[in-house]
Amino acid sequence: MRSARRVTAFADSVFGEMTRLAKLHKAVNLSQGFPDFEAPAAIKAAAAAAISRDQNQYAPPYGTPGLCEAIARDFTGRHGVPVVADEQVTVCCGSTEAMMAVMLACVDPGDEVIVFEPFYENYGPDAILAGATPRFVRLRAPDWAFDPDELTAAFSNRTRAIVINSPNNPTGKVFTRAELEIIAGLCQRWDAIAISDEIYEHIVFDGGTHVPIASLPGMAERTVTTSGLSKTFSVTGWRIGWAIAPAALTGGIRKIHDFLTVAAPTPFQEAGAVALAMPDQVFTTLAADYQSKRDLLLGILERQGFTCYKPAGAYYLMADVSRFGFDNDADFAQYLIRDIGVATIPGSSFYIDPSAAPQTVRFCFSKRDETLHEAGRRLARLPVSATDRA
Ligand code: GLN
Repeated sequence: MRSARRVTAFADSVFGEMTRLAKLHKAVNLSQGFPDFEAPAAIKAAAAAAISRDQNQYAPPYGTPGLCEAIARDFTGRHGVPVVADEQVTVCCGSTEAMMAVMLACVDPGDEVIVFEPFYENYGPDAILAGATPRFVRLRAPDWAFDPDELTAAFSNRTRAIVINSPNNPTGKVFTRAELEIIAGLCQRWDAIAISDEIYEHIVFDGGTHVPIASLPGMAERTVTTSGLSKTFSVTGWRIGWAIAPAALTGGIRKIHDFLTVAAPTPFQEAGAVALAMPDQVFTTLAADYQSKRDLLLGILERQGFTCYKPAGAYYLMADVSRFGFDNDADFAQYLIRDIGVATIPGSSFYIDPSAAPQTVRFCFSKRDETLHEAGRRLARLPVSATDRA
């Protein structure tokens, strides 16, 4: 027996595998992006209360009215973009499902989808499963800027969509308004849609701001924005995400979502409505706490001789590891897990051709300070240079 051909068109996900290896080798797990600290008590209580009230059956397929309204109100309130919950919001099982549903609903076989590289690993496979061809445009260190000429050359009348992820996983880049204006201009010129993954929208540092591309002139009608509860409220296991789309695209997204999963978990949607109504203070504290974790990890890594690219948002830090003298970053990541006891994600897994990628690893700093300190103690065992390695 053999699997369908489509499953051979892309590799296995690296994240769960690195967490498995971290457990196996008892390594400090700075690989897969999830917090090792508690979720806010108020939202845990809201989920538990919904279960006790017996809100345990299917939710309406497109989301509970309370959560859909909260999502629309929150987006309009923060960004001034009108959103009609009934016509534009689809709640999915995580923003991962939302991205897949959006791709299947909006992209045709033969279309091209532009993806910035390094990329969060789902975008390529999502495009491929929709029958489309991903086209990669590089973000280059140290500031992870794109070359506007390269981006312009990637667009054509085959381009159906571009995926944007800001704040960005894995680089920590926060796209500037000027950069988004270039992207918006190209989308308008080529009649393409922007699919904007904004799951780290509240995690921005150093007084920076997150600009959703849907808020740029003329873009609301050609942008699908995805986000979710996972990163903002430290509940990656709840699987509550959503898509906000123009009404003309929402029907298709809902249809796909209904056949994929019917509906997202009811009690967690109830808790989501409570979460989104939390006071602004919660979101500013979140960003400040993550900024101090970033600075803590940055200090640790720089002391150990890593060349770090300081993230402006999200909760990952990319570090160049070429000076450690390994053949490639995957080998270095294996050495870090087995011999040093720290799990990371090899940066080359965020590139279509790992052999053409810079040698980096991604550290996740969504961890308790003591976890980061423990990683620091272990990393202190790293040899100062390649020649010192036994
Ligand atoms: N978003 C998280 C990361 O980038 C987890 C992804 C996953 O487990 N698929 O590490």
